[in-house]
Amino acid sequence: MSVAHADDADDYSRPAGETYHAEKALPSGDFYTGQWRDNLPHGHGKYLWTDGCMYVGDWSRGKTMGKGRFSWPSGATYEGDFKNGYMDGKGTYIDSSGDLYRGSWVMNLRHGQGTKSYVNGDCFDGEWRRGLQDGHGRYQWKNENHYIGQWKNGLMNGNGTMIWSNGNRYDGSWEDGAPKGNGTFRWSDGSFYVGVWSKDPKEQNGTYYPSTSSGNFDWQPQQVFYADLSECVVSTCQRIPVLPSQKMPVWYGSEQSSSGNRTKNSERPRRRSVDGRVSNGEMDLRNNGSGYLQLDDNPESNRSSLGPLRIQPAKKQGQTISKGHKNYELMLNLQLGIRHSVGRPAPATSLDLKASAFDPKEKLWTKFPSEGSKYTPPHQSCEFKWKDYCPVVFRTLRKLFSVDAADYMLSICGNDALRELSSPGKSGSFFYLTNDDRYMIKTMKKAETKVLIRMLPAYYNHVRACENTLVTKFFGLHCVKLTGTAQKKVRFVIMGNLFCTGHSIHRRFDLKGSSHGRLTTKPESEIDPNTTLKDLDLNFAFRLQKNWFQEFCRQVDRDCEFLEQERIMDYSLLVGLHFREAAFRDSATPTSGARTPTGNPDSGNPRISRAEMDRFLLDASKLASIKLGINMSARVERTVRRSDCENQLVGEPTGEFYDVILYFGVIDILQDYDISKKLEHAYKSMQYDPTSISAVDPKQYSRRFRDFIFRVFVEDT
Ligand code: ATP
Repeated sequence: MSVAHADDADDYSRPAGETYHAEKALPSGDFYTGQWRDNLPHGHGKYLWTDGCMYVGDWSRGKTMGKGRFSWPSGATYEGDFKNGYMDGKGTYIDSSGDLYRGSWVMNLRHGQGTKSYVNGDCFDGEWRRGLQDGHGRYQWKNENHYIGQWKNGLMNGNGTMIWSNGNRYDGSWEDGAPKGNGTFRWSDGSFYVGVWSKDPKEQNGTYYPSTSSGNFDWQPQQVFYADLSECVVSTCQRIPVLPSQKMPVWYGSEQSSSGNRTKNSERPRRRSVDGRVSNGEMDLRNNGSGYLQLDDNPESNRSSLGPLRIQPAKKQGQTISKGHKNYELMLNLQLGIRHSVGRPAPATSLDLKASAFDPKEKLWTKFPSEGSKYTPPHQSCEFKWKDYCPVVFRTLRKLFSVDAADYMLSICGNDALRELSSPGKSGSFFYLTNDDRYMIKTMKKAETKVLIRMLPAYYNHVRACENTLVTKFFGLHCVKLTGTAQKKVRFVIMGNLFCTGHSIHRRFDLKGSSHGRLTTKPESEIDPNTTLKDLDLNFAFRLQKNWFQEFCRQVDRDCEFLEQERIMDYSLLVGLHFREAAFRDSATPTSGARTPTGNPDSGNPRISRAEMDRFLLDASKLASIKLGINMSARVERTVRRSDCENQLVGEPTGEFYDVILYFGVIDILQDYDISKKLEHAYKSMQYDPTSISAVDPKQYSRRFRDFIFRVFVEDT
């Protein structure tokens, strides 16, 4: 089979879901031969990196997943389970010196039960946690000394017994690899010492019992510290030089796109000089005493006309709905309803749903009388009815999005009240946030509910097929019907909050690509980090690292094609920016799918300091928390709009850069192109330039949206 160039090998003409065999040389020089599906390695295949690393094994949608063997040019190998590019499951790692670990792995780290045999003859058999011996385990030195007992962070810690090959033994308490606390040391001749152990002679206290009355009563515990214990140094594990997940190839299709202008800035942009302290393009975030954090207040700065960028510290959004709030009862109803729906026992769901699950008639009404019923608890609110739309589909979506049912209930129906946001949109919907910021609840019009139910099968297939989709995650669709005189129906959708993060969001933009009505109506003095700014307020260009940028373009195209097919319009790309502080920056890891961490999460060194270990663990967990649109390190360049160009959507670059963490996603995807939109369009076209208004048809909408997005998101070079 001939080796095709990457672009030639992309074969979108194949029917979706077909598996085929192909070889492909990537522009980077890497090489893949094996099975493909939907233009991604899928099945069995072999990937060779130019640096000599190699993976042979199972793939799933472009990721190493299943059983496989990864080998390093140093001679090190890992053979075993892979999950999403990580060594995860059961596996054997042999490093270049010959040390061998066989056991459990979680995200590249030895974790669970495992055995390590060192070439020097030592051996450990026991529990591991995050790359280090932790839990119960037995370490045997090559001279036959051995320790059986508790471990923590790679060191003997807790209760344990050390037995020396000469017959001496210590039973007792350990801390950080040495006896500490109560313990007994026995000599092979039968004498023993019972006491309190410590490296610090001042804390040592105990009694020595010699085996014969003529023994030496003068014995001191330091002898154990200096003599016996010095032989018992736990061998370290060699670092894994490059982690397989760092080598995960990024697959992208043809550079050709249907939609436009993907600016590739070849010229390396100017880094601004801030001041003496941070001269390499780093940012300083200082409080200037006015309650604002001011980015760059250097008088030497070459942007005097622009002035410093003023960012207020972010505050928690919304008003807590407590007793007396006008929507307090509604919140209680919603919480009761969700607890009922999610807590109800249900059979395990398969991801392959039957068509009947999507049937609009697939809804359950439950009556909630105040006094309670056979199925519902008594409550303080008025009687109401609760409707669950397509419960099986949403249950399965929650599973697909890895939402644990108990956590979900706790977030929405736990003891904490919801917070109501001050009507962020113009549609008149109400928005609520759970106290832990994970979920956003939006009230919906009947028409929007219908749209969601209509597109649910396509939505389900789309989010299932595209792991990195940017479209809003929906977790549930419900209706509360107040009985009695009010007879009001309130429909809710539960979705993921894009800005659920420990990082404060300093700026948020809702971008559609149209200019009409796309300027915030707030006076500048009232704009704060919780204000949703719009297209005409945008004063940044977003610069993504190459791999992210390619993945971003591909995903925006896919998501827009899906929305276009569903005749959806009016959606926005919601973008949140966190400006990184100088102090934070140093520890933060820049990321991209292929070239990630600077640190090595798998040190395996039992003598490692806690601080070092925390950093490794942080790197590993940080890696796991980065996805397209979530927690992405990037740079933004400040832009400025020409004052003579009122409707200019994309500002002029200023050469002023900031390091940021980005969060983004496509929201408000429940407007379809119905008759009212057609009328609105006809009406508005009489007065405005038709391309400037929101209401165009879905095809035009998607084109305009993408054109704009690909002008404000560019590749960072
Ligand atoms: P409009 O008609 O003005 O577009 P709308 O009432 O239909 O608005 P949305 O566009 O869905 O409402 O959302 C309004 C605002 O609520 C957004 O601009 C954003 O600030 C916030 N928002 C909506 N969905 C989310 C989400 N999933 N995560 C975070 N914030 C969100």
